[in-house]
This record gives sequence, C-alpha cells and structure tokens, in this order.
Amino acid sequence: MAMELGPGITRRCPCGAFTVVLTSKTKENPGRRFYKCGVVFGENHIFKWADDAHLEEIEAMAAKQSVMEQDLIKIKEQLLEMKKDITEIVEVVAALSTKIRK
Ligand SMILES: [Zn+2]
Repeated sequence: MAMELGPGITRRCPCGAFTVVLTSKTKENPGRRFYKCGVVFGENHIFKWADDAHLEEIEAMAAKQSVMEQDLIKIKEQLLEMKKDITEIVEVVAALSTKIRK
C-alpha cells in the first residue's frame, strides 16, 4: 500500500521519526539518493527518491514565488495610490492653513 505523502522534501515520517538521506546500492537505482524513515524501513514509513522530492520542492517554490511576484505588483500599485493620496492631503492641509491665517 502506497503512503500519501505531501510534495517536496519530507523531514519527518508519520511515525514521528526524522528522515535520513541514504544512497541506493540496488542494481536498478545505483547511486540514487533517497529519503527514508530514520527508524523503520518498511510499509507505512517514509521512502521517497531525493530527485523526485527535490523536483517537487522546486515546483512548489516556483509556484510560491509566482504568487509573491503578483502580490508585490499589487503592493507597488497600492503604494503609488497611497503616495498620491498623501500628496492630495498635504495640498488640502496647506490650502486650509492658508485660509485660517487670513
Ligand atoms: Zn517511520
């Protein structure tokens, strides 16, 4: 039975143990690195190829970065609007104080 894993690098196994990174020595995947439960090797404990995990991690980070870039564009627009508002307020205050002095 396959475990449901979140995307990216898994630092903890559902059993609570930290994961470790090891290098495969099998004929099928020689030298390929993988994350596994630091305590138990077997069903219901983490096993994930490092290259898959790293790719998922990069994809998740790229998605986050894209959202942050969009947010930054909105924030810059809002900042510009606020600067315009402040300029208007300063002008109104200046006009009022001139009237009061007269
Ligand atoms: Zn475990």
